[in-house]
Amino acid sequence: LKSYSTNPKSTCNIGTIGHVDHGKTTLTAAITKVLEKDGLSRFVAYDEIDRAPEEKARGITINIAHVGYETSKRKYAHVDCPGHADFVKNMIIGASQIDCAILVVAATDGSMPQTREHLLLIKQVGVQHVVVFINKCDITENDVIELVELEIRELLTDFGFKGHEVPCIFGSALLALKGDTSELGEQSIRKLMDVIDNNIPTPKRDFTSPFLLPIDNCLLVPGRGAVIIGTLKRGTVCKNDKVELLGFDEKKVTSIGDIQVFNKSVTSAKAGENVGILLRGLKPKFVRKGMILCPINTLTLNNHYKATIYFLSRSEGGRSKPITSNYQQQLFSHTWNIVCRIDLDSAVSMVMPGEHAEVIITLLNKMIMDIGQPFTVRENGRTVATGIISEILS
Ligand code: GDP
Ligand code: MG
Repeated sequence: LKSYSTNPKSTCNIGTIGHVDHGKTTLTAAITKVLEKDGLSRFVAYDEIDRAPEEKARGITINIAHVGYETSKRKYAHVDCPGHADFVKNMIIGASQIDCAILVVAATDGSMPQTREHLLLIKQVGVQHVVVFINKCDITENDVIELVELEIRELLTDFGFKGHEVPCIFGSALLALKGDTSELGEQSIRKLMDVIDNNIPTPKRDFTSPFLLPIDNCLLVPGRGAVIIGTLKRGTVCKNDKVELLGFDEKKVTSIGDIQVFNKSVTSAKAGENVGILLRGLKPKFVRKGMILCPINTLTLNNHYKATIYFLSRSEGGRSKPITSNYQQQLFSHTWNIVCRIDLDSAVSMVMPGEHAEVIITLLNKMIMDIGQPFTVRENGRTVATGIISEILS
């Protein structure tokens, strides 16, 4: 394989989503087939992708194919899930996080139930970029294709994406995979990759938002006070900043005495860095791991959240009985755990192990949780459910 640039290329995580049989796997194979011609990628056949080995993530059995390829601009790590259930689990447990989704829609069918469910899930986990590939244009009339495009743009808008701006490519993954070089074949795949190369930014660390530091550990330094340890999730923290310590119903205002990175004092630290921070005038008994440190008045303690949750099946170690409203258990997230109550939507009477649902979570104590934050629910030390926060309720 030749390389066009001596700079290390950035990697973009990409995933195919859409209704069963709309052509996700065919498209994945077709992309590698077309890019192989440029000498930067290896062709991965349909069968190799579709027969992805079983993986276990957090006790949950899941099938995901990881396919790598490269354009002249970037490297791509592409995930394709063989089944609908695999996709749902992958989104909820975050086994692979995607920066950009390729929504595959067969022009023969238009929007279908799984098209909508996949859009809902990627929105809930915070995927910001979508491109649309209208597939099977080789066997669909042009006026039908136009209607499908309109329908999908409207659907994207309904789910909170910019439906009128999202790039939409028309083609046939099957033709491209068969080596057809026409507009609907190879050329449509090239258009798709150009659009992704040029419109989807490589995710960068967020250094400018108010900083957020989840506390992983807390040490008592005799004569100096409390030192907290954690990895900055976003923003930049500076010495002498006025800050708040939040969690477990508590809110304490303090300021930053000293910041250490790799055992060296520094005047500031930024997202991604593991820091030790000395808090001024704070008794160590007020500090607990699981609390959040942030600038004053940027975040509010809360104990009420909406979440999407997957209940492990019995064979995955989950419950044998269904879950009903007012289900009370211990919720684990990051370094903390708290008793929580889980309530189902009023229209749903129960959820079976092996199924997923949207639920309302009420924590016994107020904490800081972010949209997209993962958690698990355990019964007697056994994980029975895993979920993500999708909305902060007031
Ligand atoms: P997935 O379930 O979304 O991964 O769909 P597949 O990639 O397995 O495709 C489902 C079926 O549609 C297969 O039989 C493919 O050969 C067929 N197919 C995929 N893309 C096209 C296309 O562009 N045109 C036509 N005519 N058939 C296609
Ligand atoms: Mg498939």
